[in-house]
Amino acid sequence: MGLSTQDLHILFLPFMAPGHIIPTVDLAKLFACRGVKATILTTPGNAPSIQPSIDHANDSCSLRHPMALSLLPFPAAEAGIPPGCENLVVTLNNHDIQLKFIKAMELLRQPFARVLRELLPDAVVSDYLLSSTQDVAAELAVPRLVFHGMSLFYLCASHSIDSFKVLESVPPGGAESFVLPSLPHRIEMQRSQIWDLSKMPEMAAFFDRCKNSEERSYGVVANSYYELEPDYAEHYRKVVGRRVWNVGPVSLCNRNEIEKSRRGDETSMDCNQCLSWLNTNKPGSVVYVCFGSMYKLPIAQIREIALGLEASDTPFILVVRGVRGNDADWLPEGFEEEVVGRGKGLIIRGWAPQIVILNHEAVGGFVTHCGWNSCLEGVSAGVPMITWPMFAEQFFNERLIVEVLKVGVGVGVKEFARAGAERRVVAGEEIRRAVGRVMGGGEEAEEMRRRARELAEMARRAVEEGGSSYADVGELIEELIERRKTTGREWMGSAEQV
Ligand code: UDP
Repeated sequence: MGLSTQDLHILFLPFMAPGHIIPTVDLAKLFACRGVKATILTTPGNAPSIQPSIDHANDSCSLRHPMALSLLPFPAAEAGIPPGCENLVVTLNNHDIQLKFIKAMELLRQPFARVLRELLPDAVVSDYLLSSTQDVAAELAVPRLVFHGMSLFYLCASHSIDSFKVLESVPPGGAESFVLPSLPHRIEMQRSQIWDLSKMPEMAAFFDRCKNSEERSYGVVANSYYELEPDYAEHYRKVVGRRVWNVGPVSLCNRNEIEKSRRGDETSMDCNQCLSWLNTNKPGSVVYVCFGSMYKLPIAQIREIALGLEASDTPFILVVRGVRGNDADWLPEGFEEEVVGRGKGLIIRGWAPQIVILNHEAVGGFVTHCGWNSCLEGVSAGVPMITWPMFAEQFFNERLIVEVLKVGVGVGVKEFARAGAERRVVAGEEIRRAVGRVMGGGEEAEEMRRRARELAEMARRAVEEGGSSYADVGELIEELIERRKTTGREWMGSAEQV
């Protein structure tokens, strides 16, 4: 049979949160650029954040196959969720709705089975958190690949914690520290930096199902590149035992400014306005401060950040999401006129064109909450980081950035706190010190800048023809073509009904 890439059809299903949707859309585009028919599957409430990227990619990018969007009804009523809550971002301050949201992920099983039968894809690439897609795909004999929007470092660390039952001997919540057994580097963590699920049985059971479904999956597609964390790429294959294709950084598939600025949401400040302001600053002089798509800074913390930035005397872009009231309530007195008004900084209230900003030559530092997309986007832009982890696996990413890659310094946060929970306010002075260490002229800062530039160059090469991530995409495509040749689509007839 003369099958080619153009005959392959892969279905991409992101978990419904911006930090998962954004890289999945990039991933689908990556495969479309190589000639695969890529369909993204999501619910109607999430379609508006994806459709513009698909439209632009189909109209203006060099795809070798157009991308498509397909819809799946969101089981809001069955899960007991109010209408309009189709994305994790709107459930954050409500634990009860979060649990229902998780239930909704399970209830996607039936509609997903219907779509799978209808579209007949050659493979499904679905988020790690969508475990029920594994069962449906297995019953229909469609290979399911797990998409991990997390570092290989974290995946290995998490495996180490589980398999050595590390947390059983360290009481939750405390500052007690422990070394992660059997990892390529000596990594020490504090118990307080790891999510305590001991009093959250439903959440713990949810993550157990995800882990279990990953073990049964066809393999893993990771948003990382071999040269970034080679020890962990090997460890994940050989010790954790997964088949993995490292295809990142997926954000590098966005080549032109429109693609870069359209990721995720409509930007709250015109991209050209950001660029014009950045153009007025010297290369490497600006620090960019952004805490991802989920976390909303408390007012007391915004004030300290503002004070720290002012004291550091470093030009900045500060992204603030979801603050209510007048600026006068949440910025230190006179800050708007004295600092922002005199052109020393820019405040973006809402959604920033992050990768456009990070890749501008004026940007020399990134204060980040260590979400994996942000870490990888910082690395790809060659920008050293000031790490300020909050929750999820962010404390692990901080270790990778600061201790293994040595392209960042920590602001000094030691406690995991869920998105809506109270946490220690980091003082302006701590922020000034950390910003100074990264943006300053000393040997430590120079060394970080040199390494960051090196990693960015490696990232660029990894995704280009001949690079490691380019090769991994090609190998996966080849393997799926071979599989199709041997299995055909006869499985549809003999599959059990889900
Ligand atoms: N992002 C953006 N503009 C913003 C905030 C976030 O473009 O104002 C993008 C960012 O580039 C990244 C994603 O949203 O791709 C956030 O993912 P990450 O893993 O860093 O953190 P999360 O939002 O999941 O906590």
